[in-house]
Amino acid sequence: MSSVSASSLVKNLIRTEILALSAYHVPDSSGYIKLDAMENPYLLPQPLREEIAAIVADADINRYPDPNPLALKGKIRELLDLPAGIDVLLGNGSDELIQLLAMALNKPGATLLSVEPSFVMYKMIATFTAMRYVGVPLAADFGLDLAAMLSAIEREQPALVFLAYPNNPTGNLFSAEAVQEIIAASPGLVVVDEAYYAFARDSFIPQLARYPNLLVMRTFSKLGMAGLRLGFLAGSAVWLEQLEKLRLPYNVGVLPQLVAEKLLDNHEVLLQQAAQIMSERAVLFEQLKAIAGVQVYPTEANFLLFRVSQATAVFEGMKRRGVLIKNLNGGHPMLTDCLRVTVGTPEENQRFIVVLQESIG
Ligand code: PMP
Repeated sequence: MSSVSASSLVKNLIRTEILALSAYHVPDSSGYIKLDAMENPYLLPQPLREEIAAIVADADINRYPDPNPLALKGKIRELLDLPAGIDVLLGNGSDELIQLLAMALNKPGATLLSVEPSFVMYKMIATFTAMRYVGVPLAADFGLDLAAMLSAIEREQPALVFLAYPNNPTGNLFSAEAVQEIIAASPGLVVVDEAYYAFARDSFIPQLARYPNLLVMRTFSKLGMAGLRLGFLAGSAVWLEQLEKLRLPYNVGVLPQLVAEKLLDNHEVLLQQAAQIMSERAVLFEQLKAIAGVQVYPTEANFLLFRVSQATAVFEGMKRRGVLIKNLNGGHPMLTDCLRVTVGTPEENQRFIVVLQESIG
């Protein structure tokens, strides 16, 4: 054994599709105005930070976390006004829930279907779990191509469909009627991923009782808790009971549980920040629209997608000037020359606009 190199062992033993993957790239953002990852740019008010510090100081971190934190789940149910019979399952971010769903539904030959361009993790997790993946292109305006979706569903019979509502990285909210037709036509489970719910005008939570094959997934990441890693699935207990079997018992740590509870008790602070982000988003939209050579797309999320010529050069120019956004050029043919900016503080946004204009030249 000792004569064999680690790299030849890796090549022999690691699954071929994993060898072929490149890891999800998170760039080093230190020193930049960071507008690349859909984070809430605002800190919490000082008194609340101090209350959190006291909670953390008293936390029993020598103990495993509560595997079924009823108080936290209760607060989520209350805030979302979940109808009776609708339960929640907590995840270490919603990324973990996507993985859990893929593991649960991946019978031999089962298919995970989504739209493209959309959140890249759907496809990546299909690969991680060796699940068959089908991506259906969106229409040119990034709306759902309903006819293409319905025929793909008929043809592929997907066990699992993910629809991000609003969609990432395009930012738009799909037609609710089209999503309903997709749910009704799907033989498998449809997960409506509402990661950006706080910035959008619609939700499928009220539809949960209507469709036996619907789950709604949400995350608190975009609402100001990205660092806590907390997401959840809402849906019928019949589904969640099965998924619970796959959830690692201690997937949400002691500190995230306690801090999230505190933040949910102060939900209005987060909602105010979300409202501020939405009003800043409207300002940014108009400013981007006014720049010659920029095509900006409608958004109901906390970010904006826009197209420029020479996007990679513009992205690099902005980075050199200290502003980090997301370069989507090269990721998907429909995203050629597209960039994505997260709404920041008013100061960050103004700096972004100045630096964008300088980088366009
Ligand atoms: N769904 C969508 C559509 C997203 O854009 C993201 C984050 N970029 C996630 C899920 C994952 O969020 P988290 O794991 O932070 O909960």
